[in-house]
Formats: sequence, C-alpha cells, structure tokens
Amino acid sequence: MISVELINTGSELLLGATLNTHAQWLARRLSDSGYTVVRQTSIPDTAKAIEEALREALSRVDVVVMTGGLGPTSDDLTRDRVAAMLGLRLLEDAETVRRIEAFFAQRQKPMPARTRVQAMAPEGAEILLNDFGTAPGLAFELVAHPLGSGRSRSFLALLPGPPRELRPMFDRYLMPWLQRRAPLATEWACRTLRTVGLGESMAEEIIEGPLQGLVELGLRIGYCAHVGQVDVRFSREGEGSQQLVEEASRKAGKLLKEWIFGEGTESLEGGVLEALRASGNKLAISESCTGGLLTHRLTNIPGASDVVIAGVVSYANAAKSAILGVPEELIEAHGAVSREVAASMAEGVRHRLGADYGLSITGIAGPGGGTDGKPVGTVFLAIAWQSGTRVIKRFNPYDRLTFKEVTSSQALDLLRRELANIGRDEPSS
Ligand code: AMP
Ligand code: MG
Repeated sequence: MISVELINTGSELLLGATLNTHAQWLARRLSDSGYTVVRQTSIPDTAKAIEEALREALSRVDVVVMTGGLGPTSDDLTRDRVAAMLGLRLLEDAETVRRIEAFFAQRQKPMPARTRVQAMAPEGAEILLNDFGTAPGLAFELVAHPLGSGRSRSFLALLPGPPRELRPMFDRYLMPWLQRRAPLATEWACRTLRTVGLGESMAEEIIEGPLQGLVELGLRIGYCAHVGQVDVRFSREGEGSQQLVEEASRKAGKLLKEWIFGEGTESLEGGVLEALRASGNKLAISESCTGGLLTHRLTNIPGASDVVIAGVVSYANAAKSAILGVPEELIEAHGAVSREVAASMAEGVRHRLGADYGLSITGIAGPGGGTDGKPVGTVFLAIAWQSGTRVIKRFNPYDRLTFKEVTSSQALDLLRRELANIGRDEPSS
C-alpha cells in the first residue's frame, strides 16, 4: 500500500470563503488509481503551519501532496518554506521564465516583476508544467531523507491553488510521474458505474446476490449517493484484479442496465447530449420551477449548441401561454402544475422551435404554494416528439436547490430513456 496525505494551504479555506474542492478532487483521482489517501489537512498561509504540517505528514506517509501558495504574492510561502526545510537551494529555471514571459506576451499584458519568483525551483526538483497559468508545480523524490522517518524513499508534490491549473497539471504530469517513481506494488483495478433514478439500497439489493462470489474473491463494492444519482464503484488489489473488476462491472452492467448513464466521471447531461447528437435529434426545453438549471447543465458541456436549440424559462402562467402557446383555459382547468400543462409546454416548445424533442418541467418548489392534492415537491415532466407525448409525475419534497437539481436530473433521465427506448412503464398522454 502506498499511503498519501493531502495538505491544502490557504487561509481562505479556513475562513469559509473558499470551498476546498482540491481535497475531494485529488482524493478521488488518487484512490481511483490505487493510492491510499489516509489524511487530509487544511492549513492557513503561515510559515509555521506549512512547516508543521509538512514535517508531520512526511513522518507518516509515502507521498505528500500540498496545494496552494505557489503564486507571486507575499502570502505565497510554500516554495520557499519547502526548499528551506529540505535544505535545497532555489535556482531560477530558464525554461519556466520563458514560459511565464510567453504567457504574458500571448495575453498582451506586461509581465509584473514579482511573477518571476515562480520560476525559482529547488535544486533537483521535477518541474510540473502549468499549461493554464504561470506557477509551475514541483515534485520531489526524497531518498532516505531525515524527515521521512526511516523511509528509504518518500515523495512530495506541490501544486498551484487554482483548480483550473491544478487539475490538468495533476492528470498530465503528476500522476504519470507518481506512477513512474512510486508504482503500486500489486495489480490494481477500479471501475465506477454511474446510475440515475435508483436508490442506493435498491442498487445494492439488485447486485449484491449475483456478485457475492466475486466479493468472496476480494472484490470491494462501494456505493456513493449524489443528488438524484448513485455511483457503484468496484475495486480490488492484487493479482487478477483487472479481470475480476471487469467481470463485476459486466455483470452489474447487465443488471443495472436501464439505470446506467455512464462510467467514471461521465455526466448525465454529457451522455444525453451525446445520444441526441448520435441520433441526429435537436432539443428545445421549457422549464418553470427549475428556473433554467436544466438548460444550464446541458450548456455547460462543450458542443451543446449542436443539439440544444433553446431553453425557455416560462415561469409565470402568462409566459407559458405567450411563449409556448399553452391555452389559458388549460391552465385554468388543471392548474399550471398538471399533467396537461406539462404536455402542452413540451409540445409547444417543440413545435414553436422546430425541435425533434420538446422537454418540459412544471412543479411546486415550495416552501409555499402546496395544496392537499398537489403538495410542495409535486412535479410533472413531459417529453414530446413527432408521434407522441409522455408525461411523468414525481414527488421531490426538498429545499429549493436540491429540488431543482433532482428535478433537472429526472428530466434528463426522461430524455435519456426515450432516446434509448427504455422504460415506457407509464402511460403516454
Ligand atoms: P494560491 O495557489 O494560494 O495562489 O491559490 C489561488 C486561488 O486558488 C485561491 O484564491 C483559491 O481561489 C483557489 N484555491 C486554492 N486552494 C483551493 C482549494 N483547496 N480548493 C479550491 N480552490 C482553491
Ligand atoms: Mg493561497
């Protein structure tokens, strides 16, 4: 086992001003690759905190990954403190200077003198290129270092704070470096199936029996519930793991087929867009209670414009009639949150925008507005296509943000199922 500790520096993390997303992102990447993350620490930007945390971590584990504090400002102390602790001289790296100069030249901005400090690298350190910023990362292999508490080798990596710089640097440069310098001693395999519309315990109930034999051979199964989605993770360490994990995901893949939308870090919205593109269909959306979240999620994916024609936030009744052509009488007769209005919204947006599929959402997010017949959390979702319309009813009695998240996933799932020809268990209207 190769043990890893994460140290996230940044006073903003401890003030509650910035959410420490590195802790989650790095832990996920490392553990999916078979490295065992045993501790994560957040510390302020002070020399004392950095030195204490690093000294302790190096005495405990094989690999330490530190984030933040590599920038050019006075609160960025990590590079200096680490070099001093390891007894390494800081030398300017000519190639890094050139890259920083090119970074500013390309943006047609003057290069502030202070940024040059980012080209200082402790002697012998591996420089990890920063393809999206100016501060390179640094990686060290420490051979029988006094701080390593008797370890013959330990590893230390320093990564920049901004997530859009850290993530590609980790994937492109640090992980390959780590796998070269600190390879796992045994075979390792890990696969994650992503499902939607299925509870955690239901997922377990479906697969635990059929996979029992593999569990006895060392397969580990993990369930991780997100809002509206459940990830099922298979992993194993030791000889034959690849084959065993393959077999597990094949078996589970068959059993959970209708709920699976992707693997690893694939997203539901990405999968739906891909299915639309593959089938040559275009989509128009009308959302009420989700306020545009469904369209937002889809348009976060590069290339969404190939298949998404429009997303209309038709919040008020008048907007549903004026923009989508929902008859006022229909709203009066059944209420804006109804099977009939959902269908009319989907058909209206499809027709008016010349889309292949129209997708609609209408519901009561709360906390007010509920009735006995239609309590807070009631939602109708509809999908309209050339030859039919399908409406489903869901009940999502959560806070407004969770409500929006869950409801938009249900709409994506409705479309996913339609595109894949699965689950026509509820009547078409
Ligand atoms: P730094 O490397 O300290 O200059 O960090 C630059 C910026 O990266 C900070 O202002 C934060 O916005 C962001 N950042 C730093 N650490 C984290 C973290 N652990 N999680 C998310 N964002 C971070
Ligand atoms: Mg900082």
